[in-house]
Amino acid sequence: MATADDCIFCKIAAGELPATIIDEDERTLAFMDIAPATPGHALVIPRRHSRDLLEIGAEDLQACVLAAQRLARRMHERLDADGVNLINSCGARAWQTVFHFHVHVIPRYADDPLKLPWSPTPGDPEAIAELGDELRA
Ligand code: 5GP
Ligand code: ZN
Repeated sequence: MATADDCIFCKIAAGELPATIIDEDERTLAFMDIAPATPGHALVIPRRHSRDLLEIGAEDLQACVLAAQRLARRMHERLDADGVNLINSCGARAWQTVFHFHVHVIPRYADDPLKLPWSPTPGDPEAIAELGDELRA
């Protein structure tokens, strides 16, 4: 299995660092986050090292998303969560701090302290259309 030197998530996947593992399959591993945003916050990683969303292969990405869905369902059933956020940070600018791809699976509760990190405000329609032109496949 491809690993990266000094990658803590590769070490968790290899069993060299402890983690509270809650789900695993051929391609993925899920474990509890050590600094939970809400009670039950978990991380899904591919066993094979990929730095981020830009690098991860399609099969590993698909397996991670399916694992995240399994956990989201369990959070609803077993933790009585009212909702779940899936969050992926790609790049330091986007808050990524561990450079082994991971999906945060964060159960949400009525009284939790999390807030949307932007204020939805209508944008300039022309600018939106221009950026749409740049991004269209
Ligand atoms: P990022 O900031 O890259 O989106 O997310 C990294 C996450 O990994 C953080 O939520 C952080 O709490 C978690 N984390 C960092 N080091 C460890 C560790 O050694 N074990 C576990 N279980 N989680 C970790
Ligand atoms: Zn790694």
